[in-house]
Amino acid sequence: MREARERRTDAHAAVGPSYDVSRPPLPVAGCETCRELAERRAAARAAFDYSAVGDANVLMRSHHRLDHGA
Ligand SMILES: [Zn+2]
Repeated sequence: MREARERRTDAHAAVGPSYDVSRPPLPVAGCETCRELAERRAAARAAFDYSAVGDANVLMRSHHRLDHGA
């Protein structure tokens, strides 16, 4: 029983985002990809499409990691 609970906690920790949703990634000045993603995110937010906002944030984070080493 205890073991099962620990496993569930582990799974939650693994799924739990290491990113802070309340602090979306910022576009890097002069980067075309960042600009596009920021525009997409702004358009999604304007349309109240929060799943698309989340998608744009995820894309921007992975782009930051891959192309900006952040
Ligand atoms: Zn960029």
